[in-house]
Amino acid sequence: MMKNNYSLECEHCKNLIYGFKFGLRYLFGNISNIISTQRESDKKIIFNFYDDVHTFYSKGYSIYQCAKCNSYENIYHLLLYDIKGECIFETRSFCENCNLLRDYISVELDEKSFIDFKCLKCNKASHIIKKNKS
Ligand SMILES: [Zn+2]
Ligand SMILES: [Zn+2]
Repeated sequence: MMKNNYSLECEHCKNLIYGFKFGLRYLFGNISNIISTQRESDKKIIFNFYDDVHTFYSKGYSIYQCAKCNSYENIYHLLLYDIKGECIFETRSFCENCNLLRDYISVELDEKSFIDFKCLKCNKASHIIKKNKS
């Protein structure tokens, strides 16, 4: 089981949100393992062209956030390519309230990790990623 063991802390108002997953891009050695990280609805889409999948690229667990209402999703980023190198699938996150695709927010995990995630309380865009002790 993968633990959701990261938190985000707003640098401005110190609001904390628990339960994020990040990284793990190296855990998945083959395409069927990596497809198992996707949402059920996306698995169905991928299954339709499964035989065309040749290679993949992933940044691991990532955050997508709506530019309008700040709602977010923490899902596994995935790109699938066919044998010609054309992208045939990209993980997307759709905000149904705003009818907008959420923006991908890149995450670099190192000593002090910052993320451009907009605070649900004060609306400012700098958070620190904290790893919870398990
Ligand atoms: Zn804040
Ligand atoms: Zn929205």
